[in-house]
Amino acid sequence: MARRVSKRAWEGYTRRLEAQRAAAYDDAYEWVVRNVPSRGRLDMKRLRLMMVEAANHHGKSTAALAATWFDQMARAEGADAMKAVPVNDTAKTRVKRMAICSNKALPKLEAGDVEGFARAIASAVAADVKRQATNTVMLNAQKNGAEYAWIPGGAETCAFCIALAANGWQPAAKATAMGEHADHIHDNCECEFAIRFNESTEYGAYDAQKYADIYGDADGRSSQDKINSIRRELYAENRDKINEQHRERYAAMNGGG
Ligand SMILES: [Zn+2]
Repeated sequence: MARRVSKRAWEGYTRRLEAQRAAAYDDAYEWVVRNVPSRGRLDMKRLRLMMVEAANHHGKSTAALAATWFDQMARAEGADAMKAVPVNDTAKTRVKRMAICSNKALPKLEAGDVEGFARAIASAVAADVKRQATNTVMLNAQKNGAEYAWIPGGAETCAFCIALAANGWQPAAKATAMGEHADHIHDNCECEFAIRFNESTEYGAYDAQKYADIYGDADGRSSQDKINSIRRELYAENRDKINEQHRERYAAMNGGG
């Protein structure tokens, strides 16, 4: 009999992942707002240390959550799978990535855009945390012959995520470069990899056809053109809402410090 993963079970899992990602974002954001001196230079070494520590700390929790969920899925489907191993990049890789991200964000700070700088730093940390969950799911799925799908979630879904979701279920063994997804996802991405061991298993939270239709109907011939045209539509819908949220957040931080 086909198994169905309820929307509620899926959202329970993704909400817990999201809470960790959001906590990492908040930690980093607050640190920047509190530590950027009104005169003089920010100590970039301290900044990077904070980024690595926040990403490690919250990333470990997300990787453990993802591994536990993987094991639960395998058990529920009667799959002959090895116990999932949480995946973390080496410290060296993380230090390097955070150095690149902080250098890239630096012009914002130099231009006096503390808020923009804080957002870029926090996003880099949050993306790293998310990567640890997605890599855990993907690498264990590859080892155990599972299929994966990218299920959009949260209030904002980016065009790239819609294009991924439109692919439907794929054998994990065929997935190419790791981190490919994590590198493209938007700042507040709450989409996650779902897995299944049996082709008949369905997710209540995933309507693959809906995303295939959005993608199929989008203007453009190449996938990049299609992603761009979906992005333009989404951007027009969300622009005002997002700007307002960012302003409120910054005002609350500054007033509440
Ligand atoms: Zn997304």
